[in-house]
Amino acid sequence: MINVILFGPPGSGKGTQADFIVKRNHLTHISTGDIFRKNISQKTNLGQLANEYMKKGQLVPDQLTIDLLENELDSFSDTNGFIFDGFPRTIPQADAFSTLLKTKNMFVSFIISLEVSENELVRRLLRRGLESGREDDQNEEIVRNRIQVYEKQTSVLKAYYLNHLPNIVFSIDGERTIEQISNDISNILSTKQG
Ligand code: ADP
Repeated sequence: MINVILFGPPGSGKGTQADFIVKRNHLTHISTGDIFRKNISQKTNLGQLANEYMKKGQLVPDQLTIDLLENELDSFSDTNGFIFDGFPRTIPQADAFSTLLKTKNMFVSFIISLEVSENELVRRLLRRGLESGREDDQNEEIVRNRIQVYEKQTSVLKAYYLNHLPNIVFSIDGERTIEQISNDISNILSTKQG
């Protein structure tokens, strides 16, 4: 089993790269953002609650997110592994994640950190807002707020993982072509099979 955490700020290309990895390595893609958005469009209680935070560019509360992730993991019993995109996003989420993985006898194989400068992130997110109509991508203030939330609450996870699992953290320059980046990721993942 290969379990990959794709780490990086909003707009760094996690979703795009996750799609490549899923195809090449036959992994199951878990994007907490996608799951929340699905719940919003289906008008579930969880979706309504999550949307109150998402539309402002804030994080959904940890416990809600952790419970969601646990349910999601339980729903895939037969897989080569998972690619976690957008989770964990806070230290409490990372702690809860590590406890959860232990109870399932699972391990994180790779942590891939996509590095992109703030100006480029804002440019990409606003463009995505125009193309996709995603509400939290359309307003520059909300986009900048999400990047700030990332800096405050999520970026510390890189040091956290460098501290806990130093041998499996890989930083990648995310300001190159999609293909260059996915080739780099693929080379890293090929160092471990199954
Ligand atoms: P991006 O990486 O571009 O910010 P996502 O689709 O991953 O996009 O997330 C969109 C929004 O969903 C976030 O701004 C946040 O409100 C919520 N969200 C997604 N994942 C998490 C998480 N692990 N913890 C808390 N909130 C989350």
